[in-house]
Amino acid sequence: MCHEGDKLSDHSSVSITLDIQVTMSGCEEEVPQSPRIKWDAASALELLRYDQKLDQLLGIVTMPWSALNCCDYFCAPHNEALQDFYDDIVRTCLDSAKLTIPSAIVNKSIKSIPGLGRTTLRKKGRALFLA
Ligand SMILES: [Zn+2]
Repeated sequence: MCHEGDKLSDHSSVSITLDIQVTMSGCEEEVPQSPRIKWDAASALELLRYDQKLDQLLGIVTMPWSALNCCDYFCAPHNEALQDFYDDIVRTCLDSAKLTIPSAIVNKSIKSIPGLGRTTLRKKGRALFLA
């Protein structure tokens, strides 16, 4: 957070740079099957438990106060601390979901078509059958 500079609003500006590792897998590459959180199948009670578990586990995550208060946009040591903080938050969200929300193994061999969800494909299949 930076409180310096010539700003027209009374809001504090926040600047953060995160190095998020993204990997792309090819069509032929074997992708290990991992459980996928089924948010759409979660009941209201499960969502409430997720909220409570997330709240509990986020309370354990250490806040990198010095990094959050650093005004040096190019501060390497604090960027690393912020990256760790980001990783902790993401891991906490996933752990909370794994503990409270139903999951299922998703068959990764089914190729998805951008813009077409399963419902759309099902309707398309039914339409082709009726034609
Ligand atoms: Zn710093």
